[in-house]
Amino acid sequence: MSQRRTPTAVEVRAVLFDDRFRAAWSAAADPEWRRKARCRSHDPEMFFPDPKGSSLDALAVCGVCPVRAVCLRDVLRRGERLDGIWGGTRPAERDAMLIAWPRLRSGRSPEPPRGRPPARVTRRSRPGRRP
Ligand code: SF4
Repeated sequence: MSQRRTPTAVEVRAVLFDDRFRAAWSAAADPEWRRKARCRSHDPEMFFPDPKGSSLDALAVCGVCPVRAVCLRDVLRRGERLDGIWGGTRPAERDAMLIAWPRLRSGRSPEPPRGRPPARVTRRSRPGRRP
């Protein structure tokens, strides 16, 4: 496993607004999901790109995969920090999801809220700052 930084609290909170995470959270278990995986017909190496390589091809395959939500659900339920592309997510994205997932299960975080996340405050958008 490659070295990855720990997600920030903001990144973990943002997961609650991520459609992929929300779909995984509400996905029903499907023990046969691997049989339906779109990646079965592609080179597995595509899903483990070099750190400096592009993951866009793999993400495109996941984007049209009929079992994306249950794939991500399975990975998050396992609780392992896997390398590679799974369920349409990159490893760093899943690290934040892996923190949010058990918190939701234990009731320590609210259900994924509806709507859009609040706008991020940046240096440029801070009140009182001139454009
Ligand atoms: S979501 Fe991606 S990694 Fe998961 S089964 Fe589908 S194609 Fe494979």
